Amino acid sequence: MSLRDLLLTRIRATGPITVADYMADCLLHPTLGYYTTRDPLGAAGDFTTAPEISQIFGEMLGLCLARAWLDQGQPAPFVLAELGPGRGTLMADILRVGRAVPGFVQAARIHLVEASPTLRAAQAEALADHAPVWLDQVEDLPRGPTFLVANEFLDALPIRQHVRDGTGWRERLVTESEGALTLALAPAMPVPELDFHDVPPGTLVERCPALPGIIATVADRIADGGAALFVDYGHRRSRGDTLQALRSHQPEDPLANPGQADLTAHVDFEAIARAAAPVAQVSAMTTQGVFLERLGITARAQALAARLSGPALDAHVAAHRRLTHPGEMGDLFKVIALAPPGAPLPPGVDP
Ligand code: SAH
Repeated sequence: MSLRDLLLTRIRATGPITVADYMADCLLHPTLGYYTTRDPLGAAGDFTTAPEISQIFGEMLGLCLARAWLDQGQPAPFVLAELGPGRGTLMADILRVGRAVPGFVQAARIHLVEASPTLRAAQAEALADHAPVWLDQVEDLPRGPTFLVANEFLDALPIRQHVRDGTGWRERLVTESEGALTLALAPAMPVPELDFHDVPPGTLVERCPALPGIIATVADRIADGGAALFVDYGHRRSRGDTLQALRSHQPEDPLANPGQADLTAHVDFEAIARAAAPVAQVSAMTTQGVFLERLGITARAQALAARLSGPALDAHVAAHRRLTHPGEMGDLFKVIALAPPGAPLPPGVDP
């Protein structure tokens, strides 16, 4: 049975489902989900990510974490964690650059939170020398000093969508009409936790129910030492409908091919700050371009360029531009960092 037929059957039997339920099945259904059944990254896949574009991205994040580790007195051992590590490329780059910092790699205990068996296999290959431990969920992270990264992880978490209507909110649901999946609006209901969004009638607001718990857990783990870096595309606050599907690098209707396209939503950075603030220090949201420049990405890119020529040099220059330029990922992607109260924030982010 296809995931579309499975969803249609379920909706006919028990009624419309939330956008979050739809997204969760599309991405992580045990046998028909997008991430569970494939490696979607890279030129042959559906989308690419910063670590897959160039090693210099992971190197800068590695230097940032290693600096934070030095600033906090080199706790050893420590948990080096990544949420949603994809092919393991980012962690491999962090560990390679980390070798320049004496003791860092030796003290690191690699923990990867990954739901996809396919991607776990790719990570095992990329990190074969480092004996990583895989975890099903963020709550399984052990206690102790924790230095953590997550790139394009939060945007894969299911979101719910609500449209302002009078004093209430109408939730957007996925339902069926004439054998096809379609969107509908539930009757207006009060949702007090959304009322701080002072928006005109008809405005759509998104919220990610899993995000506060995940961020609070990370904030708790780093509270006694460590740091966390979240990199994703999004804004300071939820703005309109940002649910999008990508297949073969092309946008498409999120309902068109359930389980066959990557589904994401923009990340609400204010929600991250709100969830972390009770226990951790939170940086301002900083654009990826500014963050990477402050960490020295251009000097590193120039050093690598000196060894390249021809098409390899052209590709390298294009990758640097793509990661940092305001018209490309430089402004679209944002970074937010968490640190223990009283500790210096990791370098590169705005305080
Ligand atoms: N960070 C990688 C991959 C980003 S794609 C990169 O930058 O290239 C999103 C990643 O998060 C994939 O590895 C996916 O399998 C994983 N993922 C998505 N939802 C998840 C969840 N709820 N729990 C654990 N892993 C999840």
